[in-house]
Amino acid sequence: MRNKEMLLIPGPTPVADEVYDALSMETRAHTDPRFVAVYKDALSMTRELFNCDGQVFVIAGSGTLSMEMAVVNTVAPGEKLLVVSHGYFGDRFIQLAEAFGIKVEAVKSKWGEHVDVAEVEDKLAKGGFKAVTVTHVDTSTGVEADLERLVPAIKKSGALFILDGVCASAAIEEDMGKAYGGNPEYRIDVVLTGSQKAIGVPPGLAIVAFGKKALAAREALGRVSAYYADIKMWAPIMENPSKYYATPAVNMIYAYDAGMKAVFTEGLKKRYARHRAYGKAVRAALATYGLKALAPDAIAAPTLTTVLHVEGTDDAAFRAALAKKGMIVAGALASLAGKAFRIGHMGSTTPEMLEKAVLYIGEAMEELGMKVDKENAVDTFRKAYRA
Ligand SMILES: *Cc1c(COP(=O)(O)O)cnc(C)c1O
Repeated sequence: MRNKEMLLIPGPTPVADEVYDALSMETRAHTDPRFVAVYKDALSMTRELFNCDGQVFVIAGSGTLSMEMAVVNTVAPGEKLLVVSHGYFGDRFIQLAEAFGIKVEAVKSKWGEHVDVAEVEDKLAKGGFKAVTVTHVDTSTGVEADLERLVPAIKKSGALFILDGVCASAAIEEDMGKAYGGNPEYRIDVVLTGSQKAIGVPPGLAIVAFGKKALAAREALGRVSAYYADIKMWAPIMENPSKYYATPAVNMIYAYDAGMKAVFTEGLKKRYARHRAYGKAVRAALATYGLKALAPDAIAAPTLTTVLHVEGTDDAAFRAALAKKGMIVAGALASLAGKAFRIGHMGSTTPEMLEKAVLYIGEAMEELGMKVDKENAVDTFRKAYRA
């Protein structure tokens, strides 16, 4: 990889050489048949990734735009949205929906725990919720939502199920055709994501998949409080990218197409297994240093880990020591700031990088005056990764 640093934050993530190559191809007219063919290919792989029976949308923007597209195109001002939140990014839907005059209620977990599904069911039983948002992996806490329980609990109320996959798509299964609990009605209606996390492409694209039911909900809304984010305006372009609505990010589409090709070359099953193994191995290795993951193993995300510092560690000095070695990790958010750090392990990140990361973390701890066994930690990583 041409990357000089190990970008182990929860996105953007390391970019593979073939994606950089694609990004630097000659910029062509957005109506040029050669570009249109690439766009079509990227859209068709996106549809396949989510097994979507409706329409997928890939436009310039970040993950937050894709959140906005999901909400604004399904819930009208004055209608009710339930937010199921496992942390900072779950909570973002509350402010977002409020900005559009949507009536929002929320069920929140303690940070590092799962929400109480019974509480979600109780709220929904009171009725009137048009849609529910669930964050697949909350990037603040490293908690993976339990879709096996949440999809049936939510869908039995009749509400639309909106899944925020920004830190999960292409690393954890998000199958819109899957009938949860064996009931064909219990399916994910919308998946939204961004290019820069588990897909491993630079930031710049908002990606949204609407199933048939969600498309019907958009149709029933008539006009929505959006122009650029209105999927109805984009639908003809997604059918035929030689049409114009707003100029697509030509080079980002090249890059995304290359990134998605890499996803399918690896294969979804293998990719999902690789990420599970990353999560397990990183948590096991860091535990040997006395570094505990905020989320217990059973609910911990395959894509990133929020790691609690050993009591008394200077977080800024720790991360600066790592940066000097060419490894970037992220600070923690809100009440965890200074007390934890976040390490991403997704997308094009390799096992070799993560092995090195385990070693560097040990070195940084030593530089801050702690005693650790680096060899044991790296060994633990290798064994847990292979297991
Ligand atoms: C990163 C992230 C977002 C926000 O995406 P941006 O690209 O920063 O706008 C939303 N949800 C989740 C779960 C994320 O991890």
